Amino acid sequence: MGRLDKALRRRALHPRQAHVEASRQAEGVACEQAGITVYLPKPMTSGLHAKGRFGKQDFVYVAADDVYLCPAGEQLTYRYTNEEDGKTLRRYWTTACQACALKGQCTTGKERRISRWEHEAVLEAVQARLDRNPDKMRLRRQTVEHPFGTIKSWMGSTHFQMKRLKNVRTEMALHVLAYNIKRVMRILGVGGLMEAIRA
Ligand code: SF4
Repeated sequence: MGRLDKALRRRALHPRQAHVEASRQAEGVACEQAGITVYLPKPMTSGLHAKGRFGKQDFVYVAADDVYLCPAGEQLTYRYTNEEDGKTLRRYWTTACQACALKGQCTTGKERRISRWEHEAVLEAVQARLDRNPDKMRLRRQTVEHPFGTIKSWMGSTHFQMKRLKNVRTEMALHVLAYNIKRVMRILGVGGLMEAIRA
């Protein structure tokens, strides 16, 4: 049983869906493995497209052969596995780059190398689900990003005033409570909020 499973069971929580930040891939994979349907936007970390070069999304993974197909149609084959920042990564490349007419759009190195995280298949399945349900990200923007954006602007550049997890948790809980109270006041008015509290 994973750490996520244990944490959910301890709190008697049974979420069926989770919207996860693009930068939290490991958490997204843990949710999927715990049977929770994850919606995780594709991370746009590569600046290669902005520089006019091919990004990783221009390479197609062919699971049956465990190779990537590059924009020139060459096969990047598996070479070795190593660890980076705690992630197990499989590395792929081809020896065709030196003679490739597209090399200027692809790499400044000897050859273009593509890395594949050991859990990348999970991310690909999650992405395919998101492509089939584009409204999910719109809904997330409406329901999740507004509270976080508002609370962040209230907190300013210093973010948390407290130190240590226990204290930071309490500080965050108070911010969320304040947000919820203001939101209900906006929707129901002060009278409506007081009535709801008394009910
Ligand atoms: S440089 Fe290499 S990886 Fe890039 S398109 Fe050419 S052959 Fe493919």
